[in-house]
Amino acid sequence: MDIETLALHGGYLPDPATGASATPIHQTAAYAYDAADDLADAFSGRAPGYIYSRIGNPTSSAFERRLTELEGGVGCLSCSSGMAAIASVSMGLTRVGDHIVASGGIFGGTVSFFAKTLARFGVETTFVDAGSVDAFRNALRPNTRMVFVETITNPRMDVPDIPTIAEVCREAGAPFVVDNTVTTPILLRPGEHGADIVIHSLSKFINGHGNSIGGAIVDTGNFDWRNGPFEDIKLLAARAGKLAFLAHLRMLIYRDLGCCPSPFNSFLHLLGIEGLPMRMEAHCRNAQAVAEYLANHPKVTRVNYPGLKANRYHELASHLFGGRFGAILTFRTGSTKAAEAFIDNARLAQNLANIGDSKTLIIHPASTIFQEFSPADREAMGVPDDLIRVSVGVENVKDIIADFETALEKV
Ligand SMILES: *Cc1c(COP(=O)(O)O)cnc(C)c1O
Repeated sequence: MDIETLALHGGYLPDPATGASATPIHQTAAYAYDAADDLADAFSGRAPGYIYSRIGNPTSSAFERRLTELEGGVGCLSCSSGMAAIASVSMGLTRVGDHIVASGGIFGGTVSFFAKTLARFGVETTFVDAGSVDAFRNALRPNTRMVFVETITNPRMDVPDIPTIAEVCREAGAPFVVDNTVTTPILLRPGEHGADIVIHSLSKFINGHGNSIGGAIVDTGNFDWRNGPFEDIKLLAARAGKLAFLAHLRMLIYRDLGCCPSPFNSFLHLLGIEGLPMRMEAHCRNAQAVAEYLANHPKVTRVNYPGLKANRYHELASHLFGGRFGAILTFRTGSTKAAEAFIDNARLAQNLANIGDSKTLIIHPASTIFQEFSPADREAMGVPDDLIRVSVGVENVKDIIADFETALEKV
C-alpha cells in the first residue's frame, strides 16, 4: 500500500470486540488476567500481553504499528515527547565513557541534552558541521556509539548528506540516528538511505494541530544488533532478532525512565497522521510560494529555504525529499527592530515557539529560543538578530502572503 493509504489504515483493523472503526482510547493503567500463570507469562515475555501502560498500551501500539509502516521499519516505540525519544535512544546506546557525534545547528533541546544532561553521565558529544561528510568522518572515535543528524536543521536549514554519512557510520559500526521530525516519512524515509534509527517529535507535523506533545523511535532494521559493540543488545538479539534494540528499550531504558505516552495523546497523533500526506504536500507548496515571495521583496535581505534554486543544499534536498523542501524557512529583515515590527504587525501568523502546526507560525529566535546565547554565539549558530523563522501552514497561500505583505509594509 502507498503512503496515503497507510496513513489511514496502517496498523489498525476495526476492534474485533465492538467493530469500532476509530481506534479506541484504552485509558487504563493496567490489564487484568484470569489466571496467575497468564500474567506470569506476560511478565516473562513467554506470551505477548499488556501489563501496565508505562510499558505498553493498545492505543499507543496502534500508533506505533502505523508509524512503523509509514517509515518502512521493523518496529516502533512511542514516547511522551520527542525529547523522551532522543533521551531513550541515547541512553540505550551509550554508557559512561562513550562518545556521540552530532550535527551542529540542531534543535536546542537536543543540543542541551547532549552537551549538558548526558555530559553529566560521562557521555561526550562532538558537534560537527552538518554540511560536511568529512567532519563526521573525522569526529568518529573507537568509542563512538551513535551519530545523530536532523534531516533539515532548524533554524540553520542545513541538509546533511544522509546516504553518504550512513556509509561512514556503517564502516565505523556506529548506529546512525536520524531525526525526521521536519520532513516526516512523506518527504523522506531515512531507512531507505541507510539510517538505522529514526526519531520523531510527534508534536509537530505528525500531530499537525498543535494539540499534544509526543515522540517516537523507529528501528529501520538496517543495523545488525547481533554484531557490534552492544553486549546487552547482542544477548537480546538471539531472541528478539531485529527487534533487539527496541526490546532493550522497552524492557529496560524506556520502562525505567517512565516516558510513556498518554493513550489519549496517542489517539490524537493517530488522528493527525491520517491527514499527514495531504497536509505535507500543502505545507511544502505554500512554503515554496512564500519563500519565492519573500526572496523578491525589497525589504527582505535574505531567505533561507532549500527549495530556492540558489540555496547551497537545493540539489541534495531535491534528490532526498522528492522535489519538496518542507515547511520551515527563515528570512532576514536587516535589523532587530525590523524583525520585531514584522512580528508585531502580522495578524494571521501566530507568534509562538512551535513548528509543524497546520497554522502559520512565526518567531524571532534571537530574543526567544536563543536568548541565553551571546550575539556572537548566535551568529555562529545561524541565528543573527534580524532573523525570523516561519513554519508555513496550510491556509490559502494568498492569505499568508497578504498577511506578510501588510506586516512588511510596517517594517
Ligand atoms: C520539537 C523537536 C524536538 C523535541 O520534541 P518535543 O516533542 O518538543 O519534545 C526534537 N527534534 C526536533 C527536530 C524538533 O523540532
